[in-house]
Amino acid sequence: MTVPAGRPVTEDTIGGLRARLDGARSGGQRVGLVPTMGFLHAGHQSLIERARSENDLVVVSIFVNPLQFNPGEDFDDYPRDLDHDVELCAQAGADIVFAPDQHEMYPEPVITTVRLGSLAGVLCGASRPGHFDGVATVVAKLFSIVGECSAYFGEKDFQQLTIVSRMARDLSLPVRVVGCPTVREPDGLALSSRNAYLSSDERAQAPALRRALEAGAALVEAGEPDGAVVESRMAAVISDAPLARIDYAAAVSPATLTRSEQPLQGDVRLLVAVRFGKARLIDNLGCRTG
Ligand code: AMP
Repeated sequence: MTVPAGRPVTEDTIGGLRARLDGARSGGQRVGLVPTMGFLHAGHQSLIERARSENDLVVVSIFVNPLQFNPGEDFDDYPRDLDHDVELCAQAGADIVFAPDQHEMYPEPVITTVRLGSLAGVLCGASRPGHFDGVATVVAKLFSIVGECSAYFGEKDFQQLTIVSRMARDLSLPVRVVGCPTVREPDGLALSSRNAYLSSDERAQAPALRRALEAGAALVEAGEPDGAVVESRMAAVISDAPLARIDYAAAVSPATLTRSEQPLQGDVRLLVAVRFGKARLIDNLGCRTG
């Protein structure tokens, strides 16, 4: 089955999507999947374009997954605009937009979930308990629905990318997980659907995340051996933004997401999470000890 170029087909049932993809694969087509929560921007489009360049059929899923939000988080307020999302998917070359409603994804109360080990309790998992179990559960469901494919995830959500890659290996899922670079505004702020929450003052201060990461990376690359010094430097840069409330600033091993052995050695991942008013922003940067 060949899906014509142009406006993507919108599919909202699991059975309908499976039928299309099984047909495509039996005709020898390679399937690319880009899982999202919608309210798309150029960061999401970069994933779709990468999938387009490596596959014959590109599916973008749009689903705001209730399992990954804790009580009191922004599930109800999370921005949604399906018509605009379909436009952006068309521009970036998607063939199918899979936009199921909650009942289609979770027709019954969920009693079976993915429970993650060590990677999920640190960093964002420490301040959002259960969040990554919810992410992993919906991603496992999407992988099961879509079947054999390459799936594209942003490095912007580095902990999520690490966890999803590991889950695919641990569960022998027939999915190649591909990490893609972070797309940023000209002033360094990583694109995020949650940037829509920022007031103009908060928006003006939000590039502090990127500046903190760059300051931390400069220290690491200059040979600073002590991770705590790097973390303090990043926290200090963020504190220069008066509206910022820091959640964490961490220098970790990219494989384990835990504090690197002292002294810092080899590849180091720097990650920050900062609240500006209602928005909780995250960003990260890889570097190597000098
Ligand atoms: P979300 O809709 O926020 O769940 O994100 C869907 C996917 O897009 C995830 O794999 C994110 O890591 C990725 N993504 C979000 N923001 C960016 C960005 N600025 N650059 C690249 N990928 C991104």
